[in-house]
Amino acid sequence: MRKPVIFGNWKMNKTIAETVEFINAVDKEVKDNADWGIGVPYLALAKAKELAGNLNIAAENMHFKDNGAYTGEVSAEMLKEIGIEWVILGHSERRQYFGETDETVNAKTLQALKNGLTPIVCVGETLEQFEADETENVVRTQTAAALKDVCPNCIKKVVIAYEPVWAIGTGKTATNEIAQNVCAIIRDELAKLFGQEAADAVRIQYGGSVKPEGIKTLLEQPDIDGALVGGASLVADSYIAMIENLG
Ligand code: PEP
Repeated sequence: MRKPVIFGNWKMNKTIAETVEFINAVDKEVKDNADWGIGVPYLALAKAKELAGNLNIAAENMHFKDNGAYTGEVSAEMLKEIGIEWVILGHSERRQYFGETDETVNAKTLQALKNGLTPIVCVGETLEQFEADETENVVRTQTAAALKDVCPNCIKKVVIAYEPVWAIGTGKTATNEIAQNVCAIIRDELAKLFGQEAADAVRIQYGGSVKPEGIKTLLEQPDIDGALVGGASLVADSYIAMIENLG
């Protein structure tokens, strides 16, 4: 039985003061019906981690090297020093705006695992690829590339987020049927790479305009074990509604 895993992704939103306000409102409402968490901008991570008792706190990115001349970057060791255990990697906005590639996502995934962090690895096709019927090929390729050289024992720790780029922040959510079909393809790719037993243990999220009203039926899909939620994770009441609606 895979425990649901639902994370917010705040992107470049919320000051430290706003982070404190959100965690004070939401943390006490968290139930054990999922691993609940939020991806928080670097500057507010330490405060978020200090205040959160129930919410898991994730970084939204991380560098793949241990340390060195990489101005502006943050290492796994720095995240661990403040108690961070989760990191979102390869989000489509990082791929689109910051030159993230399958190779860097792979290097970061290996670095996260080496350091005991749980990576949430994002994959997903663009609108153009969706319309050209390339979704299966894109998600299989991105999944295999991101997980290259991941050891068989480590794979169960990885969370995959399937996020069709056309559904992120657009208000257009994939139907449960589309989301389920693609998450099943990702699980099939995991089975090819790591064997069925490992594939069955990996948690796969859907992300793309998820709203509190849709969370329950989304997670009823057999291959969808969670969600990565942008907009709807920014408002405390909306986050609490997701916790309540999951049941
Ligand atoms: C995201 O940030 O990963 C995301 C899915 O955003 P939204 O829920 O706003 O579409």
